[in-house]
Amino acid sequence: MIDSRGLQYTYPRGEPLRFGDVSVVQGGALLLRGPSGSGKSTWLALASGLLTPTAGEVVVGGQSVGALPAAARDAWRARHIGFLPQKLHLGEALSVADNLGLVFFAAGLPVDRAAVARTLQALGVEALAARKPSQLSGGQAQRVALARALLPRPSVILADEPTASLDDEACAVSLNLLRTCASGLNATLVIATHDARVWQALPQARVLAFNASARVAA
Ligand code: ADP
Ligand code: MG
Repeated sequence: MIDSRGLQYTYPRGEPLRFGDVSVVQGGALLLRGPSGSGKSTWLALASGLLTPTAGEVVVGGQSVGALPAAARDAWRARHIGFLPQKLHLGEALSVADNLGLVFFAAGLPVDRAAVARTLQALGVEALAARKPSQLSGGQAQRVALARALLPRPSVILADEPTASLDDEACAVSLNLLRTCASGLNATLVIATHDARVWQALPQARVLAFNASARVAA
């Protein structure tokens, strides 16, 4: 479940970004739709507690994210949010399996190697566990990043432009995977995108429209 009311964020020396109110049931899908620079990544950062709203609030799974003290916020995020970032940020010194193990450290949980193996297997990339991130193709790296996002069994999956660099076939595969994985966890799926293929593929999703020129989302 996600509910936002009167949400605003202002970067230092920036104009206020004002976001429209939105409500999504648990297990539902939400598209953040708008051109580059319109505030989609900022909205994701507010919903995951990486930024604190300058006004209003976003409530995720019953928790007003901005109200969490800073120290509690990292643990909350690690346990509840599966984040598929625009850039993949895998540590090059570690194998794929060890990169995924870091998820448990972040959540303050013992590393569950069986869960790592199971998740890689579910995404068809178990053969890559011992590789270094530089030894993955773009598509493989994205599956590994998705595995990392899913490992904590999050109640919300936030994906930032997940299809931007994908051809049509890879785009369809990636969206199907995201949808299947989200529904397997009954997680709410939020996708920030300016890719028309995404909203065509998810016609039933709620849409939060972002408008660059007015810098106001309606
Ligand atoms: P989108 O994800 O839709 O491309 P962003 O949320 O990244 O948009 O950015 C929204 C606006 O905020 C843009 O005008 C961008 O330049 C500005 N912005 C983003 N990050 C910062 C930052 N760290 N400091 C100042 N301005 C920023
Ligand atoms: Mg962005």
